[in-house]
Amino acid sequence: MVVNGKGPYDSQNIFAKILRGEIPCAKVFENDWVLAFNDIAPKAPVHVLIIPRNAYVSFMDFSSTAPAEEIAGVMQAAGEVARHMGLEENGYRLITNAGRDSGQEVPHFHLHLLGGKALPAFPI
Ligand code: IMP
Repeated sequence: MVVNGKGPYDSQNIFAKILRGEIPCAKVFENDWVLAFNDIAPKAPVHVLIIPRNAYVSFMDFSSTAPAEEIAGVMQAAGEVARHMGLEENGYRLITNAGRDSGQEVPHFHLHLLGGKALPAFPI
């Protein structure tokens, strides 16, 4: 189901449940700002979702309401995850879907980290 990417935040969305430990995930990284885990339907050999621990519906919400310290923390964590996954040598793609036209399905802001092969030309 495509979501509008705006509020109110639905605390029953699947990533909120993962953050609360109510459903499992294949965790690859975590720190104070983010949890990162493998996408359940990977589109590349490496397909990791990086999500803030705090509740933001989409990048629209995150970029306009998160404190600068948290925005920096999440972006730095994304770089750390890419290094952790061994993607720095050959590179990677980092994208986020925000709102209806993007096809966003889960209403908790997340970054897709894709790599591990030469990716098809944009858009993926
Ligand atoms: P979106 O379209 O940007 O919202 O992407 C949502 C992503 O979440 C999709 O790539 C799904 O495959 C992924 N996804 C949905 N449910 C789960 C789950 O339970 N674990 C891991 N990934 C999930």
